[in-house]
Amino acid sequence: MLTVNAIAATSATDPLVRATVERRDVGPRDVLIEIRYAGICHSDIHTVRGEWGKVPYPLTVGHEIVGVVTEVGAEVTRHAVGDRVGVGCMVNSCRECENCKAGLEQYCTGGNVGTYASVDRDGTVTQGGYSTHVVVDQDFVLRVPEAIRYEAAAPLLCAGITTYSPLAHWNAGPGKKVAVVGMGGLGHMAVKIAAAMGAEVTVLSQTLGKKDDGLAFGAQHYYATSDESTFETLKNSFDLIINTVSAPIDMRAYLGLLRLDGTMVSVGAPPEPLPVPVFALFGQRRSFAGSSIGGIAETQEMLDFCAEHNVAPEVEVISADAVNEAYERVLKSDVRYRFVIDVDTLR
Ligand SMILES: [Zn+2]
Ligand SMILES: [Zn+2]
Repeated sequence: MLTVNAIAATSATDPLVRATVERRDVGPRDVLIEIRYAGICHSDIHTVRGEWGKVPYPLTVGHEIVGVVTEVGAEVTRHAVGDRVGVGCMVNSCRECENCKAGLEQYCTGGNVGTYASVDRDGTVTQGGYSTHVVVDQDFVLRVPEAIRYEAAAPLLCAGITTYSPLAHWNAGPGKKVAVVGMGGLGHMAVKIAAAMGAEVTVLSQTLGKKDDGLAFGAQHYYATSDESTFETLKNSFDLIINTVSAPIDMRAYLGLLRLDGTMVSVGAPPEPLPVPVFALFGQRRSFAGSSIGGIAETQEMLDFCAEHNVAPEVEVISADAVNEAYERVLKSDVRYRFVIDVDTLR
């Protein structure tokens, strides 16, 4: 066992504090990673505050992890000491179900093992990336291309793949009109990736406050959803809408923006059920769908795509002691566009 420095939540209400976590010995198929940066995802906050169900405290969260390999097990072939690597939202799955065999581990029918607050297949509770080291099975470790800065690579492991996967699945590309709802951590990545794929991108944000950013990230159009006329102007326009907002929205209004056979995909999750008016689907044979992160192979494809197309998230690097303050700012949407913890400040 390895005892390493970390930041942990001790209850749903107390601030995160410095702590230590135990990492298992490096097994034959494991990789030991010295973590350099860890992104702060809104899911981390929901989880530590118990908003997505009971969690075991103390708990270290973080599932946007990048670092360097410092040790490998005897049977490891995919990674070597010194490699730049990343770990996203999963660290294991059953590997036997049809989805795992198809490389869709995120949809493992037995349930994938989350990077934190999950019970791993050896019975231990997983602890996330706000820490100096992590031990992960080689199959769930990604290669981070040289062209992507470490700190910028971190948010790709959750925000990047969460938006890349539905864009790829629903064929965003040249000739396709894609709308991105919300311009936060997920939304800004969706804009950059969809634009790099060659789609015509429109941002639908509450106000025009981030318009300059949206256009700089590759969007062609930018509309305020607080302006009623937006929904009239853009009626029957889009092939694909990526909804990154985790608050309730007027589904009739948004579905009305889809053209024939268009799909609206939610990657943001409001805590309450969302009423979907079925007549809004009939009209233009529209679909409403959800999407969860991406498989390991697809996550690697996304990292390689971002390296090739020079796509990187906008990050604000913070020290470990600034995490509680960063959480407050995430909740107020006061971040452009992702906080990343400099894990050197935890050593
Ligand atoms: Zn996340
Ligand atoms: Zn499986």
